[in-house]
Amino acid sequence: MARGHIVVAGAGGNTGSHLLPHLARMPGVARITLVDPDIYERANLAVQNIESGDVGEPKVVAQAARLRRIRPDLDVAAIQERIENAPRGLLRCDLFVSCLDSKAARQHLNEIAWRMGGTPWVDCGVLGSQNLVRVNAYAPSQESPCLECSWDDGEYAILEQEYLCGADSGAFPSMASSALGALAASLTAIQVAKILSGDADASVLSRQVVLDAEHHVVQVTAERRNPNCRFDHGIWAVEPWISPPEATTLAQAVGALGSVRVEGHRFVSGLVCPGCGRRENGLRLNRPLARCAACNRRMASDGFGARECLDSTLASEYRGLTLAQVGLRAGDIVSSGERHRLLVEAA
Ligand SMILES: [Zn+2]
Ligand SMILES: [Zn+2]
Repeated sequence: MARGHIVVAGAGGNTGSHLLPHLARMPGVARITLVDPDIYERANLAVQNIESGDVGEPKVVAQAARLRRIRPDLDVAAIQERIENAPRGLLRCDLFVSCLDSKAARQHLNEIAWRMGGTPWVDCGVLGSQNLVRVNAYAPSQESPCLECSWDDGEYAILEQEYLCGADSGAFPSMASSALGALAASLTAIQVAKILSGDADASVLSRQVVLDAEHHVVQVTAERRNPNCRFDHGIWAVEPWISPPEATTLAQAVGALGSVRVEGHRFVSGLVCPGCGRRENGLRLNRPLARCAACNRRMASDGFGARECLDSTLASEYRGLTLAQVGLRAGDIVSSGERHRLLVEAA
């Protein structure tokens, strides 16, 4: 079935855990890819659709097993990763669903949905303190509204705050009940079914639905394209580039393509541990960086020598490194100027 692959970002959360069984039961869905970096904790039992045996398991692993129990013929892939760090080539699909609770992560998914051929995406959220449920849907094009079209300076200030608080604590706790998460999940699943069946007019594409369970009111708002939107709304044509990351040196890659860039990431060369101050040198894609060998904290860039793009000016000490050694993986999209290539392991 052509329209059957759904990627769910934030698959294990308050809404995602309630949503997945609905998706698995849709006849038009042949494949589900789960993306979520977290592990289930005991506190999650109170609001998420999980069981005590799931505590301690990666969320994507527990949910993938559950989906296979519901429907053994369903093709399920689990990526235990933040959405922005997953190789984008693994995320090619017919529909994205976001159950993310961080604004920064949703901004990344908005960009990915546009870039990856213009894939529709459904975004849902809950506001526990006011018993509110929200569903938005986007149909990427140059003219259609995106997530950022409705953002004003205040929204970007909140985003800035998330980044300042650190990548690992970006999410605001929604304090929503299990019931509210399930309500958002049901509303979202109904939209997913409409979009997959091609019934765009009946869906909330380019609109927002807010269900106020406190006052029993439903509000539907049309979104519009903001000509001053900070996102460029660019949709990419991606061509394959067969070049095993373990066997391709940076010199070869730059020689073949002219330059190498991975959108959403930078190359850093000076690493420092925020815990013990240990320093390390070596060129690396910051997606995230490895952990400190001494104290196991996540290494960070020292802020010097970071670059978006590798080209012929690359220092000779780095030219012999392979793509894999600097952190590229099969499935990554490698950009050179206006051209975008999917890094493929083998023919
Ligand atoms: Zn926009
Ligand atoms: Zn350290």
